[in-house]
Amino acid sequence: FGSRHDKDKGVNVQVLLRCRPLSDDEIRMNTPVVISCNESRREVSAVQHIANKQIDRTFAFDKVFGPTSQQKDLFDQAVSPIVNEVLEGYNCTIFAYGQTGTGKTYTMEGGGRRAKNGEFPNDAGVIPRAVRQIFEILEAQNAEYSMKVTFLELYNEEITDLLAPEESKFTDDKSKKPIALMEDGKGGVFVRGLEEEIVCTANEIYKILDQGSAKRRTAETLLNKQSSRSHSIFSITIHIKECTPEGEEMIKCGKLNLVDLAGSENISRSGAREGRAREAGEINKSLLTLGRVINALVEHSGHIPYRDSKLTRLLRDSLGGKTKTCIIATVSPSIYCLEETLSTLDYAHRAK
Ligand code: ADP
Ligand code: MG
Repeated sequence: FGSRHDKDKGVNVQVLLRCRPLSDDEIRMNTPVVISCNESRREVSAVQHIANKQIDRTFAFDKVFGPTSQQKDLFDQAVSPIVNEVLEGYNCTIFAYGQTGTGKTYTMEGGGRRAKNGEFPNDAGVIPRAVRQIFEILEAQNAEYSMKVTFLELYNEEITDLLAPEESKFTDDKSKKPIALMEDGKGGVFVRGLEEEIVCTANEIYKILDQGSAKRRTAETLLNKQSSRSHSIFSITIHIKECTPEGEEMIKCGKLNLVDLAGSENISRSGAREGRAREAGEINKSLLTLGRVINALVEHSGHIPYRDSKLTRLLRDSLGGKTKTCIIATVSPSIYCLEETLSTLDYAHRAK
C-alpha cells in the first residue's frame, strides 16, 4: 500500500506498522529476533544473514509501534483522531493486515481479558476503545444520535452474518443461504438480510462484539482455522442531529469500519497445489483487490477496481472520496517469520 496525505484530492491513507513481542514459548526456545523498530524515526529494519553477509533492509511508515507498545498508545496516537473524524461525519476504515499470529485480532479486539467493574483491561483493543470514545464524546456533547452496528465475516467471497440468530449458522450446506450483496442503484451496496443492531449504550456494543467474536471462534474450530482465511468487518454507523448557527436542523452521518483481514500469507503462499485452489484463489481476490484499490486511490488513477471483490464492494462508501483509511500492518519479530515479515513490509511500506 502506498501512503499519501492529499487533502485536496480527498485521499487520506495512513499506514502504521506494529511488531508484536516474542511469545513466552519463543523466548523459552531462544528464538532469534530479526526485526528492530525505531519509533521516533518511524522506521522498521529487518536484518538477514545470508552466507556470512548481513543484509539490512529498512522501511518507513507513518507510525511505528514496537514490541513494547501498549494498546492504549496505539489507540491514542493512531486511532483516536480517526474516531473524531467519524463523529464529524466522515466514513473511515481501519484495517489490520499481516501474517496469521502477528497480532491482528489482538490489535483490533484485544487480548481477551474481560472488563472488571466497568474498567477496561489494558489489553483491550481498537474496537472497544473506539466504542468508548464515541460514547464519551456524544455524551459530553449531549448530542441527539442514533447508532447501529453490523458484524460480518467474509470467507471464500461469501458473507456470514456474525449477528444472525444462532440456529441459522451451522445448519447443513443445503439450507444455508449465503447472504447476498446487492447494488442499491445509487452506486452503493447493501447486504440483504444482514442484521443491523440498533444500539444505545457502549455496553450493548461490547456484548454484541463478544457474541460475534465467539461465533467467529466457533467457526474457526469447526471449519479448521477458518479465521486465518476470513475477513471480519465490524461497522458502526452514527447519525447525529445538529443545528446550524441559523437554527436549521441537520443530520450528520459517519461510519467506522473495523476490519480484521485474512492472514496475508494467503496472498503469498497460495494453497492451490493442495487442492484448495478455489479457497486460496478467492481469498487472494479480496486481499489482492484491496491492495489494488488502495494503490489506485493513492495514485489518483482513474479506475478504482472496487467491483473486483466483495470486500472492496462492501467498503466502497468508505474507501476513497471524503474518507480516511488507516492500515495497521502487523509483524512478528521472529527469525522464523522473516520471509512473511518481509513480504508484509514490502506490501505495506510507504511508497516513496
Ligand atoms: P492474528 O489475529 O494476526 O492471527 P493474534 O491477534 O491472534 O494474531 O495474536 C497471536 C498471539 O500473539 C495471541 O496469543 C496474542 O495475544 C499475542 N499477541 C499479539 N500481539 C501482541 C502484542 N502486541 N502484545 C502481546 N501479545 C500479543
Ligand atoms: Mg486473528
